[in-house]
Amino acid sequence: MLAATSTSTARFAHLLLRVALCIAPVLHAERALAWGDEGHEIVATIAEHFLDPVARHKAFAILAADPSTLTAHDFVAEATWADRYRDSDRNGTKVHYLQTRQWHFVDIEITLADLDAACFQHPAIPTGTAVSAGPAADCAVDKIDQFTAELTAPGTSAAERVLALKFILHFVGDIHQPLHASDDHDAGGNAKQVSAAGLGSGSLHAFWDTQFVKSLGTDPATVATMLIAKMTPAQIAQWSGGKTTDWATESFGVSKAQIYAKLPKPQSNGSYLLPPTLVASSEQIVAQQLSKAGVRLATILNRALATP
Ligand SMILES: [Zn+2]
Repeated sequence: MLAATSTSTARFAHLLLRVALCIAPVLHAERALAWGDEGHEIVATIAEHFLDPVARHKAFAILAADPSTLTAHDFVAEATWADRYRDSDRNGTKVHYLQTRQWHFVDIEITLADLDAACFQHPAIPTGTAVSAGPAADCAVDKIDQFTAELTAPGTSAAERVLALKFILHFVGDIHQPLHASDDHDAGGNAKQVSAAGLGSGSLHAFWDTQFVKSLGTDPATVATMLIAKMTPAQIAQWSGGKTTDWATESFGVSKAQIYAKLPKPQSNGSYLLPPTLVASSEQIVAQQLSKAGVRLATILNRALATP
């Protein structure tokens, strides 16, 4: 009897392991969600506020000529296009999905911070190849810089210019989601279950994508207006500086010090109960990351679209 029990226990453990191994790639595939629509809309609304008249005129004209039917063609809606494009054939041919999936994050490992590794050693794009057709194995940091160069260059085709602007609108938001700039062998927090009073339960990643953002308010435009009102001139000046790698490294630092280092001990079921103080500080960090992303997105576009 004892032997039978231990055999069935062993079988059950083996089954669990197989299920876990099956789920692991799925979890990793689910990794690339980033801010939900609300987060990206807040970032774009803030950026629109800080656009110079010339950059604004050019950006709006580029987006007005967008042939895509995945989103409306206003500045704010287009910030969600890259997620829709990635997911448009996710359950079918997966061409868009596999080509662009990894561009939405920069998976810097908490235990071995190496941005170059997270960017697949920065693969070159063959001469004459559009950035949108570049290697699938690349990171959000590289793609922001590459698409910015394309948006700035006068010789870029009109079709590629639309793509470049839409990807920039989205990826600048993505790298400011701290769990899109970090990984702790948990698919960027997707493999950790958390719960908090009033916020229900879900993955740690989803809490940062969505729950903490929704805590700021239900209407993205109202949240953006509130965040803009709170910014000081000194903050705006400071946030406008730096490079894409600096912003990703900063986002990684936030994840390491403010998310992973502050997780409480797991409960007996393995999930983490976030105390109210941690929820409150997380919401403040989300507000600041969205604010920084909006200011920085405007900075990039004001520079890239400076000439009439
Ligand atoms: Zn994304």
